[in-house]
Amino acid sequence: MSLPLSLIERIDQVEQQVSEACRRSGRNRNEVNVIAVTKYVSVDKTAAVLDQGIRHIGENRWQTAEEKWRALGERGIWHFIGHLQSNKVKDVIGRFQYIHSLDRLSLAKELEKKAAALNVQVSAFMQLNISGESTKHGLQPEQAVPFLQEINRLKHVNVIGLMTMAPFESSAEDTRPVFRGLRQLRDELNNQALTPEPITELSMGMSNDFEVAIEEGATWVRLGSILVGKEED
Ligand SMILES: *Cc1c(COP(=O)(O)O)cnc(C)c1O
Repeated sequence: MSLPLSLIERIDQVEQQVSEACRRSGRNRNEVNVIAVTKYVSVDKTAAVLDQGIRHIGENRWQTAEEKWRALGERGIWHFIGHLQSNKVKDVIGRFQYIHSLDRLSLAKELEKKAAALNVQVSAFMQLNISGESTKHGLQPEQAVPFLQEINRLKHVNVIGLMTMAPFESSAEDTRPVFRGLRQLRDELNNQALTPEPITELSMGMSNDFEVAIEEGATWVRLGSILVGKEED
């Protein structure tokens, strides 16, 4: 029977895996940012993650984030990674610096309205459904251009990147075409110069597939179970 790894051991191990994936693909380690997804764990565990010097915290629902945000908000940089209902925008805006799940125009407009009222800027990732699974949220790739053209008119919402989720059940290697597809879409969009600034960021890769995502160009990986564990660990 093996003992569960301590948080410090997990962080060390993930760091080695991230570095190795960067080395294999000829990338610089500092191009890849790690987001610790704390949705499975308590306020105390989240505080311990911050104590280890990880600053980027990811949560997928305001209901599970609220207590942690209220206790630790100013210590971290907060990423909203889950499906965002328009009626929850008021809770998230001004608290989460990054929204990874911009998947529809009505959401963009609600973000714009609430951000303008608070006079804050929102950094957003446009969520794409690359795998074609009907259960996945996200825009279809062919919707990306008209969507960006609409977003460009919003003064407080800035699309800095693209985000996708790979199919869950597949082996890590099977996710590669999805991640590659997201990178190629980013490059095609930038070739068309649709945004004031090039879209640089790619939010892709979770515990079971982040090494492949990094090899394919991820700039943000969202790591829950492998990095912070689940509460029973
Ligand atoms: C939960 C979650 C993650 C992290 O999942 P793990 O597999 O535990 O790393 C990443 N991204 C999103 C959108 C999530 O909801």
